[in-house]
Amino acid sequence: MSFELSPEHEQFRRTVRDFAQKEIAPRAAEWDREHHFPVDVVRKMGQLGLFGLTAPEEYGGADGDFTSLCVAIEEIGRVDQSMGITLEAAVGLGITPILSYGTDEQKQTWLPDLVAGEKLAGFGLTEPGAGSDAGATKTKAELVGGEWVVNGSKQFITNSGSELTSLVTVTARTGETASGQAEISAIVVPVDTAGFTAEKAYDKLGWHASDTHPLSFDDARVPEDHLLGERGRGYAQFLATLDDGRVAIAALAVGCIQACLDMSLGYAGDRQTFGGPIGRKQGLAFQVADLEVMLHASRLLTYKAAAMKDAGAPVKDFKQAASIAKLYATESAVTATRIATQVFGGYGFMEEYPVARFYRDAKVLEIGEGTSEVQRLLIARGLGLPVE
Ligand SMILES: Cc1cc2nc3c(=O)[nH]c(=O)nc-3n(C[C@H](O)[C@H](O)[C@H](O)COP(=O)(O)OP(=O)(O)OC[C@H]3O[C@@H](n4cnc5c(N)ncnc54)[C@H](O)[C@@H]3O)c2cc1C
Repeated sequence: MSFELSPEHEQFRRTVRDFAQKEIAPRAAEWDREHHFPVDVVRKMGQLGLFGLTAPEEYGGADGDFTSLCVAIEEIGRVDQSMGITLEAAVGLGITPILSYGTDEQKQTWLPDLVAGEKLAGFGLTEPGAGSDAGATKTKAELVGGEWVVNGSKQFITNSGSELTSLVTVTARTGETASGQAEISAIVVPVDTAGFTAEKAYDKLGWHASDTHPLSFDDARVPEDHLLGERGRGYAQFLATLDDGRVAIAALAVGCIQACLDMSLGYAGDRQTFGGPIGRKQGLAFQVADLEVMLHASRLLTYKAAAMKDAGAPVKDFKQAASIAKLYATESAVTATRIATQVFGGYGFMEEYPVARFYRDAKVLEIGEGTSEVQRLLIARGLGLPVE
């Protein structure tokens, strides 16, 4: 199949790149240092239409393809991984579940503000005792007098406690299936619900300018019609949402590798040792060549998976492509930041160069939306192996 980016995609890439260079790049280091979530710039991303790329026009979106979203995430992530994940999570985890599973009324109520980037939504699957094993969720929701009463906690939830956050969609146990297993459903909890608390933001290794909180639910009551999708299908819905998310995270990793290549190339031409630029030394130049190879391979895997999504490929094939892209691109991004830091020598360890920030930011790419181990598990199962 063909997965060349179209001239329109390339034109769109230039638009996002210009925006990222002008609005994000000059301030990214400061936000990182101050752990500042830049509400003004998130709103500007909304005005550029980035949150509505894949949403229908009736909710204010552009009705565009998934590939365009990946291009936007890559370009934002190329200058700032924190703003890249903010966009990725806002669309992939905030908007998409409502778009995919919401009723007309739910979509009319929540989507316009989210699509405009005036509001953000979080996606609460992970709990203290349920990460990779997300089906082990303990949070409960009980239907009492026409209301869901939610009790429990969620952990590491992106875009869940910012000034712009309006709601969080969470998985919760709503009963037991006939075979005695947990029935898990998805429920939308607006942040002004009594009993809902976004706890103090985490102190993270990287992604300092992104918004991540633990959440607690103490008899948080929401109307019965805040159930998202079918009762008992919440876990399956979230897993399907994560397939798209994995490709989007791969796009964020591509932006990271591109940044590493750009920074390393520039520095290799400038920095002098032993009477010439370090780029003249094979030991250094070969590492930069490796960055180029990782970039090409990661980009191809990512945009192939995105093209499969846009072409409506069979779910099984798309799932496999998404895991392969996520695994390869994110592990490459971590390696790329190690190489770029090495190219910069001692300066690579200093926060005055962006390379140190990318080094800290990259690690979580191998963890969020399914760890590398989980991707290997899924790929092996996709090959038909009976791996546990
Ligand atoms: C900054 C950040 C933002 C996040 N944002 C969100 C969000 O918005 N919403 C949300 O729901 N979650 C979010 N997460 C959670 C993320 O998806 C989980 O951290 C991730 O899925 C791993 O779960 P865990 O942390 O519980 O690790 P665990 O599941 O405890 O895993 C620990 C280690 O064991 C390995 N492991 C586990 N099971 C297996 C197995 N079967 N085979 C082999 N190895 C295994 C893992 O790969 C890992 O190396 C975020 C996390 C971070 C760090």
